[in-house]
Amino acid sequence: MLEAQATVGGAVRSDQEVHPGFIHDTFSAFYPLALASGPIRSLELEKFGLEWAHAPAVLGHPQADGSWAILHRDVDITAELMDGQHRGDGAAWRELHATWQRIGPSLTSALMSPMPPVRAGLSMLARLPSVGGLSFVKMMLEPATTMSQKRFGGEAPALLLCGNAGHADIPLDAAGSGLMGLLLAMLGQTVGFPAPVRGAGELAMAMARRLEARGGIIRTGAPVDSVVVKNGRAVGVTSGGEEFQARRAVVADVSASHLYGGLVDWTDLPARTRRDMKTFELDAATVKVDWALSGPVPWKSQPEYAAGTVHIAHSVEAMVTALGQVSVQQIPADPFLLTGQMTTTDPSRSPAGTESLWAYTHVPQRPGGDMRDEIRGVWDADDCERFADRMQAQIERYAPDLASRILSRRVLGPRQLEERDANLVGGAVNGGTSALHQQLIFRPIPGSGRAGTPVSRLYLGSASAHPGGGVHGAPGMNAARAALAADRLEALAVWR
Ligand SMILES: Cc1cc2nc3c(=O)[nH]c(=O)nc-3n(C[C@H](O)[C@H](O)[C@H](O)COP(=O)(O)OP(=O)(O)OC[C@H]3O[C@@H](n4cnc5c(N)ncnc54)[C@H](O)[C@@H]3O)c2cc1C
Repeated sequence: MLEAQATVGGAVRSDQEVHPGFIHDTFSAFYPLALASGPIRSLELEKFGLEWAHAPAVLGHPQADGSWAILHRDVDITAELMDGQHRGDGAAWRELHATWQRIGPSLTSALMSPMPPVRAGLSMLARLPSVGGLSFVKMMLEPATTMSQKRFGGEAPALLLCGNAGHADIPLDAAGSGLMGLLLAMLGQTVGFPAPVRGAGELAMAMARRLEARGGIIRTGAPVDSVVVKNGRAVGVTSGGEEFQARRAVVADVSASHLYGGLVDWTDLPARTRRDMKTFELDAATVKVDWALSGPVPWKSQPEYAAGTVHIAHSVEAMVTALGQVSVQQIPADPFLLTGQMTTTDPSRSPAGTESLWAYTHVPQRPGGDMRDEIRGVWDADDCERFADRMQAQIERYAPDLASRILSRRVLGPRQLEERDANLVGGAVNGGTSALHQQLIFRPIPGSGRAGTPVSRLYLGSASAHPGGGVHGAPGMNAARAALAADRLEALAVWR
């Protein structure tokens, strides 16, 4: 395995550069998709040192009136807290949860499988009548806003569903966002939002240890600059003038925009790939801020249970507005923040009594303006710091004394993210938009939905491939399986 950076892990790494004694996850932090996904579970990484930690509550969202929307791993507690804010919402949440228990695992498995998902798809179809048949399908297609308005009276469930939908770049009032919100909320309800003990990097290190235990060789600081194609077949790669031959296949864990016309020359690809890549769409850019705090976040009103993930937006409408501003290429005035209280989740992250905190939010890939006319959108140090101030001010609305606890702050804008991981093109976290028109058989270009590429023995194993971003391992597993299956078929043909 050839890795461009000095350490393996890609967007699953941690570091200690923010403040002495503090571990910060450089990029991703919570892994419900890993815990729920067949591919990562099948690796049994716990045997290679991976340990999971859970915060007292999965997710929290502070509200303007001082109350919190809380998702707890115990559905009784989640429901009871919702009922406390709006009678009847608890029962509606339980009903959603019961529906998910019946169909969620086969739906998740179908979504993770290569297209068409024959076995998992049949299992899902068999369960469909028990959850309401076409009515359930309709609900899956609803925007997150509709899904929550139609089923709940209070704001808490809507904040939880819409906030989770906001992890992807599908507008909250567009089809597909409801499924995303429900998927993440129900994963939170069933498996929680776990984090690796001692930092996200431990997940990647467990994978590295497993690979090496089986004879795999990892070379870091080795950026691949081309895939060697002979007679339409990938036979190796080059890195820094050295050629590495591939006995069976090449699996490229790179963005589609770096593979096609980059590592693989256009002359080795059909004309339609070049044409289709012209419409390939990245997801939004990202700004991430990490803080080392001398104490816990001083929330103005304390939640009933401390949450690992905290969403910050004043209301569902504020989330819709912020994400809408991003989709019309404006830097949002009041960004919707995803934040993580990592020491609350895993005490090994920083000295007792302190907090390792982060927040990230999305900004346009090509900003056409700033809703407050303060930021130019070039994402130099000045832009990054000003925008980090804006993000911090969002948290300070609910924790006015936050600044008094800050020991250090680090800001990673779109450029800094990409410098640390070439797959985060322009700060995109998901290898391409998650919007419906670039999912399933349209990912990354029409006719895909599987790991194969137009070049024989070359497979795309990154988030640019179906089923897209998030740490679930499905693109890599689909690519590895496709490569091994092709190899077995060829061996059979030679033998005959
Ligand atoms: C700030 C941030 C927060 C996130 N939060 C979460 C979260 O909490 N939970 C979650 O599930 N997901 C989260 N994600 C998304 C998730 O991390 C990504 O979708 C996922 O890591 C994508 O996996 P990947 O293998 O496609 O790419 P990556 O994880 O980016 O790995 C790609 C690897 O390939 C290497 N590489 C690239 N080009 C070359 C080359 N030419 N030669 C050699 N090596 C190369 C890179 O250095 C990198 O190591 C987050 C992402 C970001 C950026």
